[in-house]
Amino acid sequence: MPEPILGPQTSLTVPLGARSYEIVVTSGQPENFGRFARAFLDATWAGKHCRFALLVTDENLAPLPYPRACREAIEQLGIRVQSVVLPAGEATKCLDQASRLYDCLVAARADRHTAIVAVGGGVIGDLAGFVAATYARGLPLLMVPTSLLAQVDSAVGGKVGINHPLAKNIIGAFHQPSGVWIDTASLDTLPPRELRCGLAEVVKYGVILDAAFFAFLEARAEVILERQGDALRTIVARSCQLKADVVACDEREETGRRAVLNFGHTVGHAIEAVAGYGGPYLHGEAVAAGMVAECRMAEHLGWITPEVTTRLIALLLRFGLPTATPGLDPASLLEAMTRDKKNQRGQIRFVLPRALGQVELTGDVGAELMRLVVSDLCAQGNDALAVSAALHSDAPTPS
Ligand code: NAD
Repeated sequence: MPEPILGPQTSLTVPLGARSYEIVVTSGQPENFGRFARAFLDATWAGKHCRFALLVTDENLAPLPYPRACREAIEQLGIRVQSVVLPAGEATKCLDQASRLYDCLVAARADRHTAIVAVGGGVIGDLAGFVAATYARGLPLLMVPTSLLAQVDSAVGGKVGINHPLAKNIIGAFHQPSGVWIDTASLDTLPPRELRCGLAEVVKYGVILDAAFFAFLEARAEVILERQGDALRTIVARSCQLKADVVACDEREETGRRAVLNFGHTVGHAIEAVAGYGGPYLHGEAVAAGMVAECRMAEHLGWITPEVTTRLIALLLRFGLPTATPGLDPASLLEAMTRDKKNQRGQIRFVLPRALGQVELTGDVGAELMRLVVSDLCAQGNDALAVSAALHSDAPTPS
């Protein structure tokens, strides 16, 4: 079980040869960001003279002190900074907003000595990262994730992209950042529901890769919900390390290793698609219920004991996350699952646990088992109280 990191700052590397980069996890140190930015911009092919940075953030973050502190830290290095504030929310991940950023870059005569600094959640990181990947065939990108989901997931790994009106994340690229600066103090202002969504992805890492980490989350759930700095640094750093290990083995989703990150997402994506994006289930909430369903499948296949699912449900409920989707139409969920990107030759494939901390990609879940599990997930009264508490309260849910 990892002990809490007691030092104020820790760093780890995503080892990708020439594209390697550092992730710093700190609490309450925005003034150090400038030095970090300078070092990492100078280390990229953009050379030693980054003169201009486009800082991209959203309307929820712009009035908060954090983006301003980042901007000032970079300006103190003699780098001119232009801030662009975009609407908050998934709809911003679109070509129109990408175009707006291209317009700013053209107007500012940006060149390869220009850096993109993404200060925000996964929406800002994915969009600004996509613009960094495509403008002038690639600009250096600094990720400054401010939501828990972005800190533990989207800011690490190099997947950047935007949505097509008919398909989420379909327009994109692999573009590794030059560095990732994570200040867990930025989470102080994150709405509780968004914190819980990030926790779903944190729990996922425990199930797929690290049983001791899962036990740590069980032991420290309360202090994590209280947002204590050392607990947050520990879970963010461990999650980033686990994701970095996977990305290092399969940077561009070619060997299949990266698929392990998809645990809970086959059913989770179907829940989002059926319930409506940004609707009753945010991404992390859909993944939470999806993980429970996929654990049940593993149970029925005899891969895990029911105790694993019971522990997962108990932890998700302590984090105020839904463990079922009562009232959703099972047939629609099953249909949506046929569109999952992992499917091969018409066969729906799942990443299922073999044990806590170990998963495997399989096409062995038959249609009957899928129907059984999905019907149970959607049954009226299935954990309905817990589900509704998670979805309709914006206060941290007591354990
Ligand atoms: P988001 O960017 O919409 O942020 C969630 C909300 O929290 C927004 O309203 C935002 O304004 C607000 N917010 C963020 N940080 C805040 C802070 N510190 N204080 C106050 N408010 C804050 O959504 P998200 O959950 O961060 O990310 C979801 C996106 O990430 C999706 O588009 C998803 O596709 C993408 N994603 C990408 C990857 C990847 O590998 N690239 C992985 C997972 C998810």
